[in-house]
Amino acid sequence: KNNKTTMTNSEEKAIELDGSQGEGGGQILRTSLALSVVTGQPLAIEKIRAGRAKPGLMRQHLACVKAAAEISGAQVEGAELGSQSLRFAPGPVRAGDYRFAIASAGSCMLVLQTVLPPLLLAGAPSTVHLTGGTHNPMAPPFHFLERAFAPLVRRLGADLQLMLRRCGFYPAGGGEVEATIVPAVGALQPFDLMARGAQQSAHAECLAPGLPRHVPTRELDTLGTAMGWSGEQLRFGTARQNEGPGNALIATLAYEHVTEVFTAFGEKTLSAEQVAHGLVKELRAFQKSEAAVGPHLADQLALLLALAVWQGRKTAAFTCSEVTEHTRTNCAVIERFLPVRFTITESRAASTVQVSLA
Ligand code: ATP
Repeated sequence: KNNKTTMTNSEEKAIELDGSQGEGGGQILRTSLALSVVTGQPLAIEKIRAGRAKPGLMRQHLACVKAAAEISGAQVEGAELGSQSLRFAPGPVRAGDYRFAIASAGSCMLVLQTVLPPLLLAGAPSTVHLTGGTHNPMAPPFHFLERAFAPLVRRLGADLQLMLRRCGFYPAGGGEVEATIVPAVGALQPFDLMARGAQQSAHAECLAPGLPRHVPTRELDTLGTAMGWSGEQLRFGTARQNEGPGNALIATLAYEHVTEVFTAFGEKTLSAEQVAHGLVKELRAFQKSEAAVGPHLADQLALLLALAVWQGRKTAAFTCSEVTEHTRTNCAVIERFLPVRFTITESRAASTVQVSLA
């Protein structure tokens, strides 16, 4: 334990993290890898996913470590399947053309989540070609990143363009996404997102490649009946049969100030009706609240705004329908790397998350 500061890639002392703190999942690893590269501070993380059924680095997490190392020339120790301890000492981030593949159906969108913050702050644009899962439970689905997340990146003054070449579902994987990341000219600009504004449109689409037609039909019918949606609001998605089998039911709510995307995933143990009802529950919880963003966008916006507050030397705030343990843990990790403070004020109608310089 006395070699904590001996890595040679950086003169700085490593930030030491307990990977089992708070929510204790893979997000601690991804956020800390991203911010280690952003700030150049080495990272020493122990007890990675220690409380999970399969603890330590799984294939998907390992892919994130390797990707973060590749864009920064990092020195890494402990990057093995099942490892609960990792040392990561980055060099400067390098913009470029990258290809990251996950052999399993693990989410390649989580690899993008890891490399995006540093590449957003690199000196030049990058393209990132990703293969693996594009629509996985417990990960941001492609359509969420494209419609809900990317517009917020653009509001910071940077750009993120996403192209879906092929869908990838568990267990086959094989999805393909191309991302173009363009840093802001000058500093990222923080913004406030306190209200969603008036609703402009709402629609759902069902991706069900390789499944019988009655599956998407029943999911869309059930959703339509519950939400009062019909006609153009209920769409069969455009995935090709050979991209399956897989099933994602995606709802997109566009408001004046923000677009939110909620997704439910089909499983062998769930009926089509149950999948639709799961989504209805999420949509109703969001509609009942007055907040600008839902729980997942809150997680991901916290990091973007923290970067912008750090760079732009101003404060930023947003409202969210729910502050999850996941969001709190993410904020705590961000505070370890960046000179920012989160102030979270919970309330029934909408909780507020404020970020300011520490
Ligand atoms: P673990 O298996 O250790 O729990 P993990 O690496 O699978 O961890 P989480 O720590 O649960 O992942 O993080 C999942 C990430 O995916 C978070 O950033 C979360 O906001 C995002 N996410 C999960 N579900 C959705 C969804 N339906 N829409 C958008 N984003 C989502």
